[in-house]
Formats: sequence, structure tokens, C-alpha cells
Amino acid sequence: MIELKTPQEIEEMKPAGRFVGEILKELKAMTKVGTNLLEIDEYVHKKIVDRKGAESCYVDYAPDFGTGPFAHYICTSVNDAVLHGVPYDYNLKDGDLISLDLAVSVNGWVGDSAISFVVGKDPDPSDLRLIKCTEEALAAGIDAARPGNRLGDVSSTIGDIAREYGYPINLEFGGHGVGHIMHGDPHVANDGKAGHGYRLRPGLVIAIEPWFLKSTDEIYQDQKDGWTLRSSDGSRGAHSEHTIAITEDGPQILTVRD
Ligand code: MG
Repeated sequence: MIELKTPQEIEEMKPAGRFVGEILKELKAMTKVGTNLLEIDEYVHKKIVDRKGAESCYVDYAPDFGTGPFAHYICTSVNDAVLHGVPYDYNLKDGDLISLDLAVSVNGWVGDSAISFVVGKDPDPSDLRLIKCTEEALAAGIDAARPGNRLGDVSSTIGDIAREYGYPINLEFGGHGVGHIMHGDPHVANDGKAGHGYRLRPGLVIAIEPWFLKSTDEIYQDQKDGWTLRSSDGSRGAHSEHTIAITEDGPQILTVRD
């Protein structure tokens, strides 16, 4: 069921969005060559413990697509991993492409956002191009999320940008409604038909999250951790996500990072 939020409820969601944005900004600044994925996880854990009213959306999360509770505070997906990456004892190397996906609730409302970047001084231009594509697709998808448009306008905008860049599109995982729970209706696919689907209206709060792999749309679940989704051909992935509210005046990003 799609739930619409009142303007007051959208205001109440902003602390969660800002908190998630603030943590991702801090993590991007502190993540370097040699940073361990478990340090990143512990940093988020501490931030959540120190913030009154904050709760992890991940630590007890056990949906049908993962294996048991996630048991960590952030998703860290490196190189051929693109979604749901379980943090483990790994020190980042020069040139690694990392995606950080974080969802936290504050006072019962969820914020959900993701960023991708390359660590070290010598990023591969093809990695930067992939990241840029997800960021452009996110910005364009947000811009299409206006009252009167349809969900298919957001999806097709994202898909068109992936096609311009020449990246395949996976439709199994995409954006979603956000509210008191992290994953609600509607599903926001990363490709679709313009002019089709749910008509967007003020009060709809959704996470838009383009993610692409360089040369395949196929993923598999890492059998060791039961969660991490990796590309079937070993190619790298990137992921950009914001939680946005659709208002009378257009889209408003809740997970701001400035
Ligand atoms: Mg997310």
C-alpha cells in the first residue's frame, strides 16, 4: 500500500534524512587507502548509539532476499559487489570503488541514501564514469519526481541515462517507498515506460537509487555471507541514492549532504 505523508510528517522525516546525509559525508571524508570496512561499520554504530532516537534499519533486518539478520550498521560494497555488501575484515586498496548504503531511523522515521567513490589517488576513469552515470541518473530521476508525472517517468529517465552511457540495467532491485519502514511501496524500478504507472502526488516519499554494473545486468549472492550482491562477470558496480519527498513545489531531497 502506498502511504502519503502530510507536510508535517515530511518535516518530521527530515532529521533522519539529515543524519544519514551527515554520516555519509563524514564517511566519504574519512575513508582512505587502508581503511577497514569494519571500522566504517563501527563508526556508524557509534554515531547511532550517540544519537538520541536513532535506530539502525539494518542490524536486525531479515527480509526474504538475505540470509538471516544483516547484523551490521551499513552496507559496504566494494568493486564487483554493488548492493547489500556486508562489512568484513578488509583494508581498502588504492583504486577500490566503494559504495556505502545507509538507512537509519530517527524518532521512528527512516532516511535512506547511498554514495559511491574511489579511494586513493589514481582512480580508473571508467570507474569515475560509472559513478557519474549513477549520479546523473539520480539527479534526473529526482527532477522527474513531480506532482502530475508518473512513476514510469522517473524510471524511464533513469533508464535512458544508463542507455546513453551504455550500461545494462537490472530491474530486480530498485528504489522504494520510505516512511516508518525502510522498504515500502511503491517499487521504483531503474527503467520503465514514460507516462505509465502510479501518478505522483504531494506526500509521496521515495528512495530513488540507480545502480549499474559496467558490463552485465546479472548479479549473484555471495554464498559466504548470504547477502552481498556481486556482478556475474566480475565487473564493477556503483550506486547513488537519495530519499526524496514529493511536494506541491516539486521534489525535495531529505538525505541532504551539505
Ligand atoms: Mg539504501
